[in-house]
Parts: sequence; structure tokens; C-alpha cells
Amino acid sequence: MPSHAGSGRYAPSPSGDLHLGNLRTAMLAWLFARSTGRRFLMRIEDLDRARDAGAAERQLADLAALGLDWDGEPVRQTERAAEHEAAIARLDAAGLVYECTCTRREIAEAPTAPHDPPGAYPGTCRDRDEAERAAAREAILPRLPALRLRVPEAEREQAFDDLLLGRVSGAGDDLVLRRGDGAIAYNLAVVVDDAAMGVDQVVRGDDLASSTPRQVLLQRLLGLPAPPAMEYAHVPLVLGPTGARLAKRDGAVTLSDLAAAGVEPARVRSLLTASLGLAAPAERVGMAELLARFDPAALPREPWVWRPE
Ligand code: GLU
Repeated sequence: MPSHAGSGRYAPSPSGDLHLGNLRTAMLAWLFARSTGRRFLMRIEDLDRARDAGAAERQLADLAALGLDWDGEPVRQTERAAEHEAAIARLDAAGLVYECTCTRREIAEAPTAPHDPPGAYPGTCRDRDEAERAAAREAILPRLPALRLRVPEAEREQAFDDLLLGRVSGAGDDLVLRRGDGAIAYNLAVVVDDAAMGVDQVVRGDDLASSTPRQVLLQRLLGLPAPPAMEYAHVPLVLGPTGARLAKRDGAVTLSDLAAAGVEPARVRSLLTASLGLAAPAERVGMAELLARFDPAALPREPWVWRPE
């Protein structure tokens, strides 16, 4: 096994039990990290969730039942608020943060520049002076303003090379750093926490590929490791029988549902490894053997469609 100073990670949001799509992504994150000699870390992305006390523990137990292991204690994002705030303060000191009092609806209804992607922030609050800002704050009380990143014009376009998707580029608008309710935004927390944890390899579902240019932008503005020092692999999702992204409504899709239906974790692992082209259907392969077989270049590039039978 090569040895590598960096780390990979899996970063589930504790919103309920992991389904087959989450489990498959976790298995891939483990394979990518361990096959390159990296450490493999866990992070519980609990910033945005009504605390479901047991959800994170059940997720970790399911990952272990599948045969995954990780280094050290899982990191909880809610315990890292001071670092998140410190990063915002650094951006602010560089003149890159402004208050935004817009509601979702105001943003949706504002005219946008022709080249902006749909939903992009139109810049309404960007250039307010002190007096305008005070008036705007006053006007939305008891609501508080959100904080947005003032993206420098020259930095709007960001690109990175994905191990599976190739070159990905995207334009970033003035993304939210901290919401009006005080919650730290996903993009900021991910970037700050990955850097603090020594993560240099991010493997996650390809639904998040479009967030990555914004995260790369934040890495650059904060002076944190960015591509090519950060490696990305956005992996295909699992679809349900209807062709939509797999969800709880698709029946027994979590380890505990499947166990209740008589499908043991070892069998789930075979299904997942077969879906990745790493094993024959129903073949039982140990984790060490899976690592030996793992070849990113040979991974399926299409979503896997889960059919319960
Ligand atoms: N917490 C995110 C999710 O569960 C993943 C974030 C990431 O991997 O960067 O979808």
C-alpha cells in the first residue's frame, strides 16, 4: 500500500439513516482514501439539522457494519463554530464580506444579468453604504442579515480537474457565508473543516460537483490548500426504480430496512461492490481484496439504478 500524508473523508449529514446511495458513496470514499495510503476521516455535518441525537450514531454503526473503518474520532461540525467564525472574520478583514437582507423571494424576483446562472444572487445588497446598510438592518427586524462573500470579479470563474468528471468549471455568485438565523453555510464549513482536518481528497456524490467551484474559490481566498493540492472525485449517484435519485420512498433502502427484509449487511456489501464492478454478483469479497481490485479508471461513470428485486 502506498503511504500518503493526506486524508480522505466521508461527511454525512445526520438527517436520517444512510440509504444505498450514501453507503455506496461512503464505500467509494473509503476505497479512494485507503487505496492511496491516505487516512480516512469521518465528519458529521450537523450544522443544519434539527439534532436527531441518534442519527449520527446509527450512520456510523451502519458504515462499520458494511466493513468501513476510519481514523480517530468523528469530527462534528457544530463543535467547530469558532473556526468557522474566524474564517468569516478573515474574509471580512479583507473586505470580502457584506450583509444581505434579501429574502429568497426578493432574490428570485430581482432582475439578473443575462450571463448569470438562474438563482444567482443579483447583488442587491452588495454596494450599500453605511447608512443604507443600517436602514436595511432596521427594516427587517427581528430578522437579522445574512453574510455574503463579495466575490472579486477576477475570481468568479473557478475550475478544477475531477478524477472522474475531468475538467469542471463554474462561475460563483456572492454566496452566503452565514445565514440570517446564524447558521454557518455548508460551503464555508466544508472548506474550513477539510483544511483543518488535513483532508486533501474529497469523494462525494456528483450532485455536489456544482458546489465545488465555490469551495475552490473560498479555499483560494482563505489561503487554504486548493486544487491541484486538493483532489476531487465526484461519483455517480444511485437512482431508484423510477429513475429519480434514490430516496426513502423507494422502499427498503437502508441497512436496517434491508435487514428487516432478510438482506444482511454482508449481502448489501456484495450488491454494492458488484455495482461498482469490483465483484461478481453475490460474490463475497473482503475489504483487503476490494482494495487490491480497486481501480478508479475502471469505475462505472453512469448512475446505478437500484431495483429492489
Ligand atoms: N454532508 C453532505 C451530504 O451529506 C456532503 C458534503 C461533502 O461531502 O462535502 O450530502
